[in-house]
Amino acid sequence: MFPLVVGVGKVCIADGMVKVECEACGASVKRITSARLQGRTLCLTDYMKEIEKYRRHIVKTFDEESEPAIAILQRAHSEAPPGYTLLAVRRGRNSTHTWEAEYEKTEVFQMRCS
Ligand SMILES: [Zn+2]
Repeated sequence: MFPLVVGVGKVCIADGMVKVECEACGASVKRITSARLQGRTLCLTDYMKEIEKYRRHIVKTFDEESEPAIAILQRAHSEAPPGYTLLAVRRGRNSTHTWEAEYEKTEVFQMRCS
């Protein structure tokens, strides 16, 4: 079992113990207590702050008057925006014929220690 570092992947113990510098606050932390986000190395405190900024939801609206609900459900899944994961499809608010598909940004994990 190798520890998983967010944005880096699974790291071996030797790499996990290597000290890295947080690019936000400059703190020196072990690799296993760091994370990579948008190409920057961050300590876990700064990672939690940054992820809030980057956590973006996308909502796409479909209309049941122009296509059947089953087609909307399929399209909501197959036409997810690149880099986003479908979270839910639900009825639009205050509407009997629109559907909303909600997507969340997916973090891209890179593998280390090949
Ligand atoms: Zn930091």
